[in-house]
Amino acid sequence: MKYKNRVRSRISNLKDPKNPGLRRNVLAGSIELSRIASMSAEEMASDELKQLRNVLTQEAIREHQMAKTGGTTTDLLQCGKCKKKNCTYNQVQTRSADEPMTTFVLCNECGNRWKGYK
Ligand SMILES: [Zn+2]
Repeated sequence: MKYKNRVRSRISNLKDPKNPGLRRNVLAGSIELSRIASMSAEEMASDELKQLRNVLTQEAIREHQMAKTGGTTTDLLQCGKCKKKNCTYNQVQTRSADEPMTTFVLCNECGNRWKGYK
């Protein structure tokens, strides 16, 4: 699974039109393919990709924090995307204590996420 992701990130880096330098270097042979295999995603990334990656990292951290608080599996909520009823929800007190809790729902089938009951 991890390896698959690594390969995918490599391919998307090579295909990225915003990062022509990398592809050019590979095609010109100035970066050997074996080197690509050992390059970190950061090394391959263009500045724009780096920025995007930062955002994604932030999101991953938030998701991780949410995952840490656990969650309740329920078949009472239906995913709007895949219509299956296999979800995990978390209730989070977002603002003051008088305000209702916000419910974050995660679909265990397709990974769709949404807020509040649906
Ligand atoms: Zn779903």
